[in-house]
Amino acid sequence: MNKEEQLNGLYKKMVADTSLPLQWSNLVFGEGSINCDVMFIGEAPGERENELSRPFVGRSGKLLDKLIESIGWKREDVYITNIVKRRPPINRDPLPEEIWAYKSYLAEQIRIINPCIIAPLGRFSMNYFLPNAKISRDQGKVFKIKDKFIVPLFHPAAALRSTAMNEALQESFKKLPAIVKKYKSTQFSEEVAIFPEQEKLL
Ligand code: URA
Repeated sequence: MNKEEQLNGLYKKMVADTSLPLQWSNLVFGEGSINCDVMFIGEAPGERENELSRPFVGRSGKLLDKLIESIGWKREDVYITNIVKRRPPINRDPLPEEIWAYKSYLAEQIRIINPCIIAPLGRFSMNYFLPNAKISRDQGKVFKIKDKFIVPLFHPAAALRSTAMNEALQESFKKLPAIVKKYKSTQFSEEVAIFPEQEKLL
């Protein structure tokens, strides 16, 4: 089965899995290039995302699009998804049990797409991959789990609220093309921190 068929199969499995939490809302599976180098992973869909069943299409999404374009990439060149794939009520933070419930599906999605770089957007997504990382200290740095490089970034929603975070996010985005170039073919690099205990996530 090719990647597209595998992803379609995963999508159908998720739709059919009524044990997944937040069933009142629409499934926002993810979209973009299945042959991408970079997979952006947010927290959970918001109101607009729920309406359209597409990730990052509200205000945060508009900023994410701008940032992607600012480095000469297109939204269609990357893959965009969330840890939790249905909307928590009134945009509350996802609960640990919700994150847990969607975990095997996200792991499978990452396995199928197989990006070189995972860019978690925001603290929640970052701590999913790197439990001990601190967003203000570690955003824009490169970490390694198994064969994947993890580059945590500020959430665009946080950047919309703070000029300093917006500037830091822009700076980190500017580094992404060089990070992709450097790590795409690298199996190991001693300057990245390795988190073997997190291998089960991927
Ligand atoms: N915030 C997220 O974390 N994900 C979305 O898809 C939209 C907003």
